[in-house]
Amino acid sequence: KKWVYTFGNGAAEGRAGDVAILGGKGANLAEMASLGLPVPPGLTIITDACALYHKNGRDLPEELKLQVMAGLHGMETVTGKTFGGSQSPLLLSVRSGARASMPGMMDTVLNLGLNDRTVEALGHDAGDARFAWDSYRRFIQMYADVVMGLDHELFEEILEDEKGRLGHEYDTDMSAVEWQHVVSLYKKLIEDELGEAFPQDCHVQLWGAIGAVFASWTNHRAVTYRHLHNIPGDWGTAVNVQAMVFGNLGSSSATGVAFTRNPSTGEAELYGEFLVNAQGEDVVAGIRTPQSITEAARLASGSDKPSMEKLMPEAFSEFLAICKRLENHYRDMQDLEFTIERGKLWMLQTRSGKRTTRAAMKIAVDMVEAGTISQEEAVCRIEPSSLDQLLHPTIDPGISRPVIGSGLPASPGAATGEIVFTSEEAVAAEAEGRRVILVRIETSPEDIHGMHAAEGILTTRGGMTSHAAVVARGMGIPCVTGAGSMRVDMRNKVLIGVGCMLKRGDIITIDGSSGRVLKGEVPMTQPELSGDFGKLMVWADNLRRMTVRTNADTPADARAARAFGAEGIGLCRTEHMFFEGDRIHVMREMILAESERGRRAALDELLPMQRSDFTELFQIMHGLPVTIRLLDPPLHEFLPKTDGEIVEVAAAMGMPQTVFRQRLDALHEFNPMLGHRGCRLAISYPEIAEMQARAIFEAAVEAARITGAPVVPEIMVPLVGLRSELDYVTEVIDRVAAAVAQETGMEIEYLTGTMIELPRAALRAHVIAEAAEFFSFGTNDLTQTTFGISRDDAARFINTYQRKGIIERDPFISLDFDGVGELIRIAAERGRQTRPELKLGICGEHGGDPASIHFCEDADLDYVSCSPFRVPIARLAAAQATL
Ligand code: PEP
Ligand code: MG
Repeated sequence: KKWVYTFGNGAAEGRAGDVAILGGKGANLAEMASLGLPVPPGLTIITDACALYHKNGRDLPEELKLQVMAGLHGMETVTGKTFGGSQSPLLLSVRSGARASMPGMMDTVLNLGLNDRTVEALGHDAGDARFAWDSYRRFIQMYADVVMGLDHELFEEILEDEKGRLGHEYDTDMSAVEWQHVVSLYKKLIEDELGEAFPQDCHVQLWGAIGAVFASWTNHRAVTYRHLHNIPGDWGTAVNVQAMVFGNLGSSSATGVAFTRNPSTGEAELYGEFLVNAQGEDVVAGIRTPQSITEAARLASGSDKPSMEKLMPEAFSEFLAICKRLENHYRDMQDLEFTIERGKLWMLQTRSGKRTTRAAMKIAVDMVEAGTISQEEAVCRIEPSSLDQLLHPTIDPGISRPVIGSGLPASPGAATGEIVFTSEEAVAAEAEGRRVILVRIETSPEDIHGMHAAEGILTTRGGMTSHAAVVARGMGIPCVTGAGSMRVDMRNKVLIGVGCMLKRGDIITIDGSSGRVLKGEVPMTQPELSGDFGKLMVWADNLRRMTVRTNADTPADARAARAFGAEGIGLCRTEHMFFEGDRIHVMREMILAESERGRRAALDELLPMQRSDFTELFQIMHGLPVTIRLLDPPLHEFLPKTDGEIVEVAAAMGMPQTVFRQRLDALHEFNPMLGHRGCRLAISYPEIAEMQARAIFEAAVEAARITGAPVVPEIMVPLVGLRSELDYVTEVIDRVAAAVAQETGMEIEYLTGTMIELPRAALRAHVIAEAAEFFSFGTNDLTQTTFGISRDDAARFINTYQRKGIIERDPFISLDFDGVGELIRIAAERGRQTRPELKLGICGEHGGDPASIHFCEDADLDYVSCSPFRVPIARLAAAQATL
């Protein structure tokens, strides 16, 4: 079996398309090498080896080892250096590279191949002993941490002590001899702590590092990251072993990271940062604040540190040409890593760059307009759920507040919250429903839990490509990094800003679009959804087959949904209207009435309220379809619960408390979600359905008169399991329709249909369709009744199920294709057998979930209906589902 793919010197065994076996990094290194770009030679061990490594008790097959040795030999030939050689030693980097990018989650070892012998040779070759010893101590520190499991803090302590003892402020003040001494201290530390020596044999080092990278696939933070990003655990990582190039060989050396376009705004301008005389990880780690690559960016930032364009003009122009070439080649914005070793440019990585949604939109639209990609491709390049990012509020432009600090606009949107200083605090606060801003000097992969829990992130160190910035953009969380004018005092848990000192729990606002930090809460405005967004949505709308409706109960919801492009209402839950203002009192009177007469009296009061609600909804929807569902929830939901409320309501209704309590007890149910609800209410109390039907028809007549647009209400009966249930309620509706038509002299067109929320209804769909003109899959209840898992109690254990691998996704969020989905397919098929023109839609929460929308497309539904803010997501997902 071919375990190892080599690359370098203008050739490669792999290609960009081999991501599944070579991982993203390996596949793109191969592609760059074949394009003839300057890539240090190397080899990639395929992702399959990762699973094998874990299965074989952390060992690798002999065949693989031989292939690595052969590849290594090739690297020696290309570089003219020898691995472990006493002259011209070849040093290696060993890095992970999975199919999907998992920034910083897995381990890396640099400068591998150094030992007491080769360090001398390296110093001789480079003409710089100081560099060699510095590299050696870095290597020991990294190797001990990653391979031997010794905390790197212990090494930092030794270094700090030594610097203190020598009176040095910076690492750069250290001399060769001083580094050499640090190396001896490091080696001693390892022996003392682990009882074994730091390995001098370079091959032992190499296999140790390769094993550690495979092992890091299952470390805690990688597992968490995969969980958050739905990356399958069985993919495994590849390992890339590559000849080292050095960005820390003096002032003509540098290392950097760049995007071919601005990853925040999508502007077509090279955007990046570099550090002179530094090694790769220094930029990403955010330890030093880096310099701009282009002069334009330097000027814009007002920095006085020179740009790469000015400092290293030759390397810069070569780099610029490579950027253009790679972007054209991949037809997408690229994220690049490079190193300049004594003036010579080397490319270390290229991949499709992570970007904000706003940038993704702009880049996609620009590329369509430049003829680079098609409209279909553009539509496919936007992750539907990421549209959420665009819905982030921004700080009201008219507001002036004291700015207490400012940093880099690392991830757009504004956020307000209480200050917390640790990820644990952020997670705990979120669990209590508090909104927090995570404030750190810098973040590390260990913080992803806390970052996820926070509304926003503020760091005082690091650039646009620091860990905090990259991760926040990916998560769509507002973030400000490198707020150098502010200081975090972790010991005393305070944030010191301009003219103020804030403690944990104090409120701040960050603006990830401008980089400002403000004290207290600040008024915000909602973003405009036009421009690129509008164009992309038009393209998506042209592609999609399904209609997108909204679940809206109030005029405000309906208006918001229209603005987001909803093409009708798929579900109006009428019960929500009974909670508005004083209506709840009348509703309670109705429920607690002891006779039909009492109920009718209360219903007479409710009628005009419902009618005016429906009239308004019909007007807003202006001829678009509106589906109104009859009363669904168990009645006790409307009743008072606490003693205080009970006393108050009883008094207001003029009922003796004992009688009142008896009525309450009579309405008590052991399992209300499976109890007296849905169409069962309409069958017990047809007068309720009568009132609602009347309100709907009268409103339809009125709205049609006002707007001149015909209104065709769709009346939906909930929780039907039997055809006879639907027949009974439909008969009530038809009777009222006839009455209203006669009273108003206006013939009303309408549809009656049912929700499919019970397995029985799905299975008997061919029979139910005889009585229904449409089906709407209520997948919240259908999931509940199919799994037999209470939708209100699932949260207590679904997380545990996911963590233990019992289920992959929460079926209440993303449709269970195999079970619930099967019922939907059966119902759709059987229903259409009876009635080919049967309209089919979905109105559970799944109607706004991209994966579930894909399913609906495949099941040939006519529409999806979702909450207003998810309408744009559904429009995009429905378009992608057709491609
Ligand atoms: C459903 O059950 O999926 C549904 C839309 O109805 P509700 O959530 O109101 O029960
Ligand atoms: Mg339901």
